[in-house]
Order: sequence, then C-alpha cells, then structure tokens
Amino acid sequence: MNRAENIDRLANETFDLCIIGGGASGAGCALDAALRGLKVALIEKTDFAAETSSRSTKLVHGGVRYLEQAFKKLDFAQLRQVRHGLEERRLVLQNAPHLARPLGLLTPVFSWWEGFYISIGLKLYDWISGLRRQGGNEQAKLPSSRWLTRQEALKIMPGLSPNIHSAVLYYDGLLDDSRYCLALIQSADEAGAVVANHLEVVGFQKNAHGKLVAATATNQVQSGQSFEIKAKQFLNCTGPYADPIRMMANPRLSPRIRPSKGVHLVLPADILNSEKAMLIPKTRDGRMVFAIPFEDSLLLGTTDEPYSDLEKEPILEGSEVDFLLETLQPFVARKIDKTQIRAGFGGIRPLLQSTNPQITKFPNRQTRSLLRDHEVERDPFSGLISLLGGKWTTYRIMASDAVDSVYDDLNISATCQTGNHRLVGAEGFTPDLWKKLRVEFGFDEDICQHLASKYGGRARIPAALAAGQPELSDRILPNFPFLKAEIVYAVRAEMALSIRDFLARRIRLEFIDWDAAKLATPVVAKWMGNELAWSAKEQAVQTSAYVTLLDSFMERSKRT
Ligand SMILES: Cc1cc2nc3c(=O)[nH]c(=O)nc-3n(C[C@H](O)[C@H](O)[C@H](O)COP(=O)(O)OP(=O)(O)OC[C@H]3O[C@@H](n4cnc5c(N)ncnc54)[C@H](O)[C@@H]3O)c2cc1C
Repeated sequence: MNRAENIDRLANETFDLCIIGGGASGAGCALDAALRGLKVALIEKTDFAAETSSRSTKLVHGGVRYLEQAFKKLDFAQLRQVRHGLEERRLVLQNAPHLARPLGLLTPVFSWWEGFYISIGLKLYDWISGLRRQGGNEQAKLPSSRWLTRQEALKIMPGLSPNIHSAVLYYDGLLDDSRYCLALIQSADEAGAVVANHLEVVGFQKNAHGKLVAATATNQVQSGQSFEIKAKQFLNCTGPYADPIRMMANPRLSPRIRPSKGVHLVLPADILNSEKAMLIPKTRDGRMVFAIPFEDSLLLGTTDEPYSDLEKEPILEGSEVDFLLETLQPFVARKIDKTQIRAGFGGIRPLLQSTNPQITKFPNRQTRSLLRDHEVERDPFSGLISLLGGKWTTYRIMASDAVDSVYDDLNISATCQTGNHRLVGAEGFTPDLWKKLRVEFGFDEDICQHLASKYGGRARIPAALAAGQPELSDRILPNFPFLKAEIVYAVRAEMALSIRDFLARRIRLEFIDWDAAKLATPVVAKWMGNELAWSAKEQAVQTSAYVTLLDSFMERSKRT
C-alpha cells in the first residue's frame, strides 16, 4: 500500500484491467480479478469507501423487505435476491470475522396479529437462509428467529417502550463498512493489484476503432498532475457516479442510475440500552427504519429520496432529523429530541433504473420500488464494462459477475476464488485476541478490544508501534480507545492522506461523534503532518477546512 510507488507503476506499466472506483464494488472486483491472475489497477477519486460504501446502514442481509414484496407481488426475482443475499451474508461474516458479526434485531409490535404476521415472515427468512447448510466458522452461524413476550423483549432491550405488545427477534449481520472495504483493498494489494486513492479519472483515450486504451487520471493531492493509465479493459465501479463515467466513454449512452439519498442520525446507545438492534417495520411513508448499535452509539436510519446533485455531498438535514426522531419515538421509553444527536451522515444509493419502459414513463415514481439488483453492462463501442446497482452484502457475487465479463472479453477463462478467501486481518483473529493483546502490550481493555476489532490479526502492528514509542501510546482523546499510533499506522499502511480519511473511514469517529471529531482534529493534523511532511501552513489549512466541514454538518442538521 505504498501510494508513491503505486502511482509510478500506474503511470509506467500496462494492465489487463483498470478498475475505476474504490468502494465495495471496485474493491471486490480488484480482489477477485487479482486472485484469478489478472494484472489489475484500481483508482479511487477520493478515499477508499469515501462515498456510499462508508455510509450504509451496515447490515449484511438478505432483505426482509424484499421477502415481503416477493410474497405480496408473487415476484420470484425478489425471492432469488433474498436467497443470494442470505448466501452472501454467511461469506461476508466468515471471511472477515473481525469486521463483521451476527446482529440480533428486535421488531416491536403493538398487536398479536402483527407479531404473528412478522414471525411467520421471519421463519421463512430463516428457512431460506438454509441454516443447516451453513458451513464455515461458528461466528458465521446465526440463531433462528423467535417471537418474544413483552417481558422478554424488555429484558433484552430495556429502552423499549412498555406499550408494546411483544417483539420478534431475528438475526442478520453487521459490518464496519469502510474498514471492510479497506480490508478488501489491502487483500487485493497483497494479491498483486496496484491501488491508489485520491486519483480521479477525468477522461479516456481511444484507439482508431473507438475502443478505450487508456484512462487519464489526475492526482488530487500534492502535485495535481495528470497521467495516463494503459489497460486492455476498463471496469466502471463508480456506484452512484456510474453514468458520468459511462458517458465519458460513450456520450450516446443513456442514464441507468437513479440516485437515491438515505440518511442516518446518531444517538447515544443508552436510548435502547441493548447490544441488539431494532427494526421498525413500517414508517408513515411505508418503509422500514433501523436503530443499529455501532461503535457505542445508535445509528437511526434510513430515508429514501431521489437525489440529483451528485457533485454535492448528501448531508443530514433538519427535516430528516425530525422525521427519523418522530418515527423512533413511539418505540422507546425515553423522550428523544434533537439535542441528543451526536452525528449523522447521508449516502447515495446506486439504484439501477430498469430499462422497462413502464419505469422510465414515470420519472417521479418512488425510488424504493425500483429494481435493486445489480447488472453488468458492456458498451460494445468503447468496450467499457460497468458494474451497476447492487448492495454491500452482495459485493462479492457482483464482483464475480463483472470479472467473468472481463474474462469473456479477453477471451480467456479462470474461476472466481473469493468464496473462501479470508481478508487481511482475518488470519490470526479469534474472539479472545483482545485478551492476548492485553497480556502482550498491557494496554487498557477498551483499547485492546478496539485494536482487535479494527485490525484483527494485524492488530499487533499498530500495538507494537505504540509500545515502541511512548508518545504514540497515548489516546487521541481521553474517552475513546483510539491511539496516536493508529494515525501513523493509517498513513504508513492504510494509505490515509487527509484528516477526514483517518477520522471518518479508518477509526469512524466522524460517523459517531462530531464534537469529538473536532477535538481530535489538531492531534490528527499534527501526527499526520509529521508523516506526510505537511508545513505548518498546510496543517493549519487542513485543520480549519475539516472543522468548517463538521460545523456545516452540525448547522444543517439543526435547521428547521
Ligand atoms: C443510506 C444507505 C444505506 C445502505 N444500507 C445498506 C445495508 O445496510 N446493507 C447493504 O448491503 N447495502 C446497503 N446500502 C447499499 C450499499 O452501501 C451500496 O450498494 C454500496 O456501498 C455501493 O458501493 P459502490 O462501490 O458501488 O459505490 P461507492 O461506494 O459509491 O463507490 C464508488 C466510488 O467511485 C469513486 N469515483 C467516482 N467517480 C470517480 C472517478 N471519476 N474516478 C475515480 N473514482 C471515482 C467514488 O469516489 C466512490 O468512492 C446502503 C446504501 C445507502 C445509501
């Protein structure tokens, strides 16, 4: 993961495959293609997982909602989607157990009938997931669903409203999305892919037949220089931004992505006071909302609204805060209000617009009813292959389909190897790793648990860095388990280049606590600046730009 060396290779070598976009789709494709033996380049405009892939609800799921739709509409394609999601759920948990784990979700109901209806649906969900067929490690196995009495539910989740009738408990997976993406990138790098972040594709070069032969990339940091990356094939994995790349390759293509904004807000975890999550089965606009325990906080989301200005970051707005709090309030005992919000974030779903004329005829149709599956498109004129749509849970199967298409085009064959490929950090990880770290390094319990859950079997590297240099063994902030050594490690081993790369996507602090992220900024700027040779002026500019950004998030979430 040496960016300078990689940029040199990107500029001077020719690749079999150049992947554009370093989110779940691109990272999954890079690992798949590199393991099959292709010479792969991957370039990402900002940071790995900077867009949708760090802004998800973090569920690894088959989609209980799709199951309901499948039966209500007798739609077997939706049923197939659920089955694929459930098969992939097992592999996501199995291949990086430090970053993904089983999660119990409680669905509170207010009547016997509602409980009966939901528990039948969730039994069916259990059945489709084929519990008995689940091989792999113990961590990847999920318990069956259960209908709980009110007393049982309140015991598991003391923050629940006592007005509920009962609750149904079922299981899915929870992943740290941006770190999972980073583990895919690191695994691709170790399999031979040449990866670089903060490198934007701004154009293509074509041969006399109009076929793509090179991508022009601009370095977004330091020099701002542009250069060409030569490859036999180009794979567009830019998620919600796929259409601009498709049209850059061939202006005659018509749009396929219908971007949809979804936001989450972050509340203190003691509102539910449980390690389980809550599923609210129906909001006033007929959707599901989740309250998910994540990093000692509670994520509440999401929304689903059409989004058009892709140049602008999707930000949590005050009106969205009101909607989500109103939705949660009847399900919890405590009064909740805006003053309890710690952070929030928005993401853009790369929903795939069907070519079905019925859908294009109704441009205002609700985005939630659009097709959510993925598609691999090949433009016969430019040769660009685009991986469109999909969800985090199915990234591996999406990547496999896309890389199969690349192989078809190259007229060679090789089978997908990712099914049982353990990601970086999975080797050497056991649930009691943190205890071993405590014995070896003597750090506090919360620090050891944090290091084990973020770096898995590689946790000894940042731990040893801290142990070897006393000032790096300090916490970045007194009430959080993050060490200064992690800043240095993130620059040296994880290609972090900005304060936001570190606070948002390496340790997730921006996603759970804006005030804390502001307090951490000068410390991060100092240590990152040392590593990246920032001048005092550069440090000040980076610090002020990031703090201004956080202030704008806070201000927008409070607007009425
Ligand atoms: C609110 C919300 C909640 C969700 N919850 C879940 C969930 O719980 N479970 C689940 O399975 N899925 C969930 N999803 C879906 C899932 O997050 C996405 O399907 C997935 O992250 C998309 O990944 P991607 O790589 O295709 O896109 P992205 O993550 O957006 O990656 C595309 C990348 O391409 C880069 N890029 C763009 N243009 C260029 C360029 N010119 N040059 C180089 N790079 C470029 C971007 O910077 C970006 O990093 C959710 C999505 C949203 C929005």
